[in-house]
Amino acid sequence: MAIYKISYSEEFKRANIHNYGCNFNCRWCSYKLGNRPKPNRFLDLEKIKEILSRLDIERVHFVGGEVSTYSLLEKVADFAKNDLGIYTKIGHSNGYNLPPKSIDAISVSIKSLSEDFYIKYTGKSNKPVLENFQTVYELGIEVDASSVYIPELIDHDEIEEIVTFIADIDPKIPYHITGYIPVPGAPWRTPTWDEIVKAQEIAEDYLQQVEVSWFPSFDDYLQMISENPQYQKVTVV
Ligand code: SF4
Repeated sequence: MAIYKISYSEEFKRANIHNYGCNFNCRWCSYKLGNRPKPNRFLDLEKIKEILSRLDIERVHFVGGEVSTYSLLEKVADFAKNDLGIYTKIGHSNGYNLPPKSIDAISVSIKSLSEDFYIKYTGKSNKPVLENFQTVYELGIEVDASSVYIPELIDHDEIEEIVTFIADIDPKIPYHITGYIPVPGAPWRTPTWDEIVKAQEIAEDYLQQVEVSWFPSFDDYLQMISENPQYQKVTVV
């Protein structure tokens, strides 16, 4: 079991299903470096179905860690898609596993085209990630990509290689660059706004839809979360 929370946005008619756990060990991971405590209880399949059934929702998003490590993901996604008839999205994935057929959309993070880099900084090969990204696209699943810009680690040259890979599949695939927010115990600094702009310009040479997000500090990020309607939700269980 790995689902510990379900939250709900009335405005967007969306349920978020929150997963605990990931099969990667990214050295910059705020999720892991933050020493997030293990939840003290998890939701079983029947409880998840019961809650989804009584909410007024048009979409369900799977979030938190790496959702594909949740052994019942396919069952929950099948229920949401086929029984409830709602849109299903994996809000973020490291792409190491293929999503179930009943997933409509997925956002995949690509950190590097170098396998050595992946093994050194995440603990896993990038081969399945790159192959799955292409497969997901070919299956007709709505796919977008993202990268965290980390100065001197995932820098402009790395971004250029990543966007070249994506553009070779389809230059219309949306791409999001997030500025790294330092986490305790990791050596990297916050990028400057100019560095982010340059990364965006590089990506826009290859891709048609490029967005960026950047926060000078973790407090600024928290402030955005508290003000942005997309993030306003209540915990159902
Ligand atoms: S894939 Fe995401 S959640 Fe998993 S370790 Fe890496 S940054 Fe953290």
